Amino acid sequence: MDKVCAVFGGSRGIGRAVAQLMAQKGYRLAIVARNLEVARAAAGDLGGDHLAFSCDVAEERDVQNTFEEMEKKLGRVNFLVNAAGINRDSLLVRTKTEDMISQLHTNLLGSMLTCKVALKTMIQQQRGSIVNVGSVIGLKGNSGQSVYSAGKGGLVGFSRALAKEVARKKIRVNVVAPGFVHTDMTKDLKEEHLKKNIPLGRFGEPIDVAHAVVFLLESPYITGHVLVVDGGLQLVI
Ligand code: NDP
Repeated sequence: MDKVCAVFGGSRGIGRAVAQLMAQKGYRLAIVARNLEVARAAAGDLGGDHLAFSCDVAEERDVQNTFEEMEKKLGRVNFLVNAAGINRDSLLVRTKTEDMISQLHTNLLGSMLTCKVALKTMIQQQRGSIVNVGSVIGLKGNSGQSVYSAGKGGLVGFSRALAKEVARKKIRVNVVAPGFVHTDMTKDLKEEHLKKNIPLGRFGEPIDVAHAVVFLLESPYITGHVLVVDGGLQLVI
């Protein structure tokens, strides 16, 4: 049976590294992001038979239509990675409500919607594996990131509950929680200062996280797990 994986947020950063690793391992990939041109370029760079799709994870109809299109063009999606995410870091008292909503819609509701739609096929097939990309900040909290932390913490609760809900259907749900990783999301951070607090002394690379995502996707006896990939940051914050 074909191994088909939808990678939401697969056009850049962590999701893109996941897609690159999975392409090497023989998966057929759907690279999903809002910007279709960037997603197409990322899918093209993989070489082979991979396709790009434009979708806003926060829009239920968009997610439904995208899964229909993916299944028509690639076949049944039996692997799902939720790596789409945004941050709007600021102290809560200065955070606009629209920025609260957009973070929660993209980082939490978005993963709920993709899981909900993906599960229709996975339940029929009695087969499926999902990895949601959380954050160590969702476990530990961070000043200036209360809304982001809420979304990522919520994603852990959601994933663990869903893991219980679908385990009898032979579907697994896990979380990878990265620390600081070199991507567009972190390009404006003060790296020299921040990395002093990381026990391993450096930011992660997207491939560091990708290995953990693929490990969980493929580990047949692990579900409801949160795998922290943070260079030891959680030990000290
Ligand atoms: P990037 O900004 O590099 O990439 C984000 C990806 O998500 C892009 O492909 C983007 O494409 C897509 N995306 C964003 N919003 C939406 C949306 N509404 N619908 C569909 N796709 C969307 O981020 P990272 O790779 O750094 O982050 C990936 C995940 O890892 C996120 O969930 C992030 O919160 C998490 N994370 C990142 C850390 C880091 O240090 N980098 C640390 C901890 C967690 P487009 O803009 O075209 O839609």
